[in-house]
Amino acid sequence: MIDDVKRQRILVVGAGHVGLYAALHLSRKLRSREAEVIVVDPQPHMTYQPFLPEAAAGNISPRHSVVPLRRELRRCTIVTGEVTRIDHARRVAMVQPVIGPAREEPYDQIIVAPGSVSRTLPIPGLKENAVGFKTIGEAIWLRNHVLEQLDIAAATADPHTRRCALTFVFVGGGYAGIEALAEMEDMARDALRYYPELHPEDMRWVLVEATRRILPEVGPDMGAYTVRQLVRRGLDIRLDTRLESCADGLVKLSDGDSFAADTIVWTAGVKAHPMLERTDLPRDDRGRVTCRATLQVVDGDRVVEGAWSAGDCAAVPDLTGPPGAFCSPSAQHAVRQARRMADNIRAVIRGREPVEYRHRYAGSVASLGLHKGVAQVYGIKLRGWPAWFMHRTYHMSRIPSLNRKVRVVVDWTLALFLKREVVSLGQLHEPRESFSEVTPAVPARSGRPG
Ligand SMILES: Cc1cc2nc3c(=O)[nH]c(=O)nc-3n(C[C@H](O)[C@H](O)[C@H](O)COP(=O)(O)OP(=O)(O)OC[C@H]3O[C@@H](n4cnc5c(N)ncnc54)[C@H](O)[C@@H]3O)c2cc1C
Repeated sequence: MIDDVKRQRILVVGAGHVGLYAALHLSRKLRSREAEVIVVDPQPHMTYQPFLPEAAAGNISPRHSVVPLRRELRRCTIVTGEVTRIDHARRVAMVQPVIGPAREEPYDQIIVAPGSVSRTLPIPGLKENAVGFKTIGEAIWLRNHVLEQLDIAAATADPHTRRCALTFVFVGGGYAGIEALAEMEDMARDALRYYPELHPEDMRWVLVEATRRILPEVGPDMGAYTVRQLVRRGLDIRLDTRLESCADGLVKLSDGDSFAADTIVWTAGVKAHPMLERTDLPRDDRGRVTCRATLQVVDGDRVVEGAWSAGDCAAVPDLTGPPGAFCSPSAQHAVRQARRMADNIRAVIRGREPVEYRHRYAGSVASLGLHKGVAQVYGIKLRGWPAWFMHRTYHMSRIPSLNRKVRVVVDWTLALFLKREVVSLGQLHEPRESFSEVTPAVPARSGRPG
């Protein structure tokens, strides 16, 4: 029966939480004569985003919070490049490889999983002065930048320059923003022991959140507890407040306050990847691909044959929630949806019926710095050290591959005994500068040597 079926070309767009897991399962569960799996991603690695705050804080090496695709997906074809368009009516995707001309990639089944991008607003100065917190590059940059600000503040005699350098503003109080803020503050406070010129009170860490609560993922009680903890640590938490402008280094808030700051981190939510606008796939009013609970793309009532989607870019009904509810954008759903989707694709290829995805959101764990955390999982509320420990064990169990797990545990253990590294490698961002400074330019009209 299987031998009669045409060998399927399965194209995976994006190798993040959904794409990596789906490709891994498909390549293990389908025979090579049944299917070929092609994975396209602009990065040669999957980023385990829940570890970004710890990578930025120096508890984990940034290299260990990403998963190399060619190492993990040995039975798949990896294309380093970007899918720029999908013409599902013709079953082709336009792929722009990292070098060379764009080409059309035909497929029989497509997994659309490019995830999300930061949801930004047209705020004066935001484009020029702020940074997001979704990629490993942003995490590395932020770490180097924060440590560099300590060096600047320690070196300057000018109080204004020092105040700007030591003011760090985070916009958005979801888990990405809170974890990033709390971890970075913890790291900077730790680093100050090597800066006799600076005191913890010189630093100003501000959270700007437009609603009345933070960390909705851990519930209202734990969110309120987190606010109290952060305030006790000296952080400036502004709820019900919006960023109105950050032009020319001057932060203006909707509560009327304004102050200078050299660091603005934008973590105020995500939206479906804009590449989806260049596809003929059905989308909802938030730009997400519309799906059935089977993770098949759906146009009204009609299943779009051969198209599948999940994760941050997809509107997947949450069968455990009230009618009309959708799964939240989280790694927790993305990884489970990926597995269900892979099983469903295999079922459909083999002539069987797909099964609906059903997972009750278990709650969340969040790290608030070394030995500090907050969690609400299956109704159980944890705070402080137990929550932090749970955060670590949970994510260690979730990051793909034994290789990564071992590396992460070794990083944690080393940091525990040897203290984390608190040195800025800011040169990383301008590696050619010093070489180029000492290399003479070729005189304008000189001939070739020899
Ligand atoms: C700082 C931070 C902390 C988080 N912590 C948690 C947590 O504790 N718990 C939790 O459940 N969730 C957490 N999340 C959310 C979680 O990481 C996301 O919900 C999850 O990554 C979504 O998976 P995805 O596969 O849809 O997208 P992603 O994992 O983002 O993957 C998308 C992939 O698509 C690729 N791509 C993009 N455009 C293209 C294109 N045009 N062509 C080809 N490929 C493309 C990208 O390079 C990327 O590899 C966190 C997120 C962040 C940013």
